[in-house]
Amino acid sequence: MRKPLIAANWKMYKTSQQAEEFVKAFLPLIANQQRDEIVLCPSATSLSTVIAAVKDSGVAVGAQNMHYAEEGAFTGEISPLMLKAVGVTHVIIGHSERRQYFGETDEMVNQKILSAVKNKLTPIICIGETLEEREADKTKEVLLRQCQIAFKAVVPEDAESFIVAYEPVWAIGTGRTATPEMAGLAHFHIRSQIARLLGRKAADSIRILYGGSVKPDNASALSNQPEIDGALVGGASLDPVSFSKIVDY
Ligand code: PEP
Repeated sequence: MRKPLIAANWKMYKTSQQAEEFVKAFLPLIANQQRDEIVLCPSATSLSTVIAAVKDSGVAVGAQNMHYAEEGAFTGEISPLMLKAVGVTHVIIGHSERRQYFGETDEMVNQKILSAVKNKLTPIICIGETLEEREADKTKEVLLRQCQIAFKAVVPEDAESFIVAYEPVWAIGTGRTATPEMAGLAHFHIRSQIARLLGRKAADSIRILYGGSVKPDNASALSNQPEIDGALVGGASLDPVSFSKIVDY
């Protein structure tokens, strides 16, 4: 059985003080829930504060991005060693906003995944098609390409703890959500491709989250799909009550 996982992507929102206030309000709201694993991904400047604030709560903390090199002359970047050193356990890789605005390619995503494995960080690997690609009936082709390149040189045993987030680009921050059936089909396709690339064991262990305008009122219908193992939540994760309702659905 795959344990459901709900991850919050706060993007470039919240100062450390606001992040700490969120955790103080959020932890009591989810104190009794045991079903889901929870990961909060604040901005880099709030990582240490959030890690200290969630101590002993069972909530994990992830970064929103990292460089694949362990150190070097890469001004403004953050390395896996630096993330490990502050207590980060997860890292979002290949978010569509990074692909769209910062030129992140499938090959860079692959390098970052390999580096995360080497440094014992759990990657949350984002894939998904644009509206144009969906309308041109290319969804399956795009997901296959993204998986094929992302998982190059990955050892199947290492992949068992990976988290994949299916995030149709047209549904992120737009209020448009894929229907549960649409998302379920995409997840089924992704899991089949992972089985082909890495074997059935890895495919059955990897959790595939849905992301794209998940809210308290649609989380339950999405999670009822057998191939959906949780959610990566942007906008609705910024408010502790709304995020706790998604965890609690
Ligand atoms: C995201 O940023 O990964 C995301 C899914 O955003 P939103 O929930 O706001 O669509």
